[in-house]
Amino acid sequence: MQTSLADFIRDTPEGKEADAILRKCTHCGMCTATCPTYQLLSDELDGPRGRIYLIKQVLEGAAPTAKTQLHLDRCLTCLSCETTCPTGVRYGRLADIGRKLVEERVGRGPVESAWRGAINAVVPKPSLFGPLFKLGRLMRPLLPPALKSKVPPAPTAAGIWPAAAHARRMLVLEGCAQPSLSPATNATAARVLDRLGISLIRAPGAGCCGGVTFHLNQQEDALAYMRRNIDAWWPHIEQGAEAVVITASGCGVMVKEYGHRLQHDPAYAKKARRISELSKDISEVIAAESAKLKPLISRQPSAASRQRIAFHSPCTLQHGLKLQGKVESLLSDLGYELTHVEDAHICCGSAGTYSILQPELSQQLRANKVASLESGAPVAILTANIGCQTHLQGATALPVRHWIEAVDDSLR
Ligand code: SF4
Ligand code: SF4
Repeated sequence: MQTSLADFIRDTPEGKEADAILRKCTHCGMCTATCPTYQLLSDELDGPRGRIYLIKQVLEGAAPTAKTQLHLDRCLTCLSCETTCPTGVRYGRLADIGRKLVEERVGRGPVESAWRGAINAVVPKPSLFGPLFKLGRLMRPLLPPALKSKVPPAPTAAGIWPAAAHARRMLVLEGCAQPSLSPATNATAARVLDRLGISLIRAPGAGCCGGVTFHLNQQEDALAYMRRNIDAWWPHIEQGAEAVVITASGCGVMVKEYGHRLQHDPAYAKKARRISELSKDISEVIAAESAKLKPLISRQPSAASRQRIAFHSPCTLQHGLKLQGKVESLLSDLGYELTHVEDAHICCGSAGTYSILQPELSQQLRANKVASLESGAPVAILTANIGCQTHLQGATALPVRHWIEAVDDSLR
């Protein structure tokens, strides 16, 4: 694609990056076939090729409008288009640049700004989110159905977090909403890793990965969360922590980006790059230790007693971290029977704050996803990201859990 970026951006780091991305796009349109919003809305501007064109126009000097913003807002940033693209267009990075520019130029109305501001003020802060979530649970019976589905019932208790007794140590990203919504996830990961001879440690002072704030287009504010985590983790890295383990694939994608996001910060660039290199989804860690895992499995089920489960692979796991198939093969090795899930590459509609900000599209995608997941008559749905877990749980009677809990079950 030929480009002619406007003077205001051409020679900036963002301008150069956007230009390189745009030049890779051949406008072939293959990505539209796998774009969830194009599938629902059948509008070229609600598909990746159309959005790329809109961003290109803005970068070339056209004034963005509220309509430009709407089409970019409707994008889930699921990155299905990136997986499909034959020429390697980094759509996600282009969308980040485009959205920031459009946000600055178009702005938001007072109600929308207040709503987005409230989400940004609460969700990344466990000290606010936790008490509000507890209050929401108490009020749950009184809530209207749409809101009730956003407040999951009482979560599974965390259980024991083993003491750090092993020479091998790994840090864990605690996250922001996950400790309230599913406290069992990280504690379960700690128990499984403990059986594998690895202590999972929490660094006081670390918290939200910055993803919520970043995807609300407060990109500079998000950098503060990233720096805070780096400061909290760095002493442990210097003392030999092998990895930063992440149990929410959405957060995993963000931490993998730290090196890129802080590349122009002289105080943090090197550390951020190192943290991104050390960040690992829990599936990568377990897969690397699978030889030690197998002898610990209490009993391989017979063919007749294999539990049927449906695995929902989050977009951030399969398209963002490119770890497609890893969890599925781990679960099969443990004796679980995975059902067929139609359109497994399509987003469930959670997508961070998308389910709150674009409820209609989000709910359509969720209904389609739940139908696919339930079609194979599983006894449970497993997934790898807290956002998807909570979102799907709001629309199915089946239990929706993190897959690491199934590994823990197999070890008992
Ligand atoms: S598939 Fe890739 S090259 Fe083709 S239109 Fe989409 S982004 Fe551009
Ligand atoms: S990120 Fe997802 S929703 Fe956005 S354009 Fe790409 S495929 Fe479509």
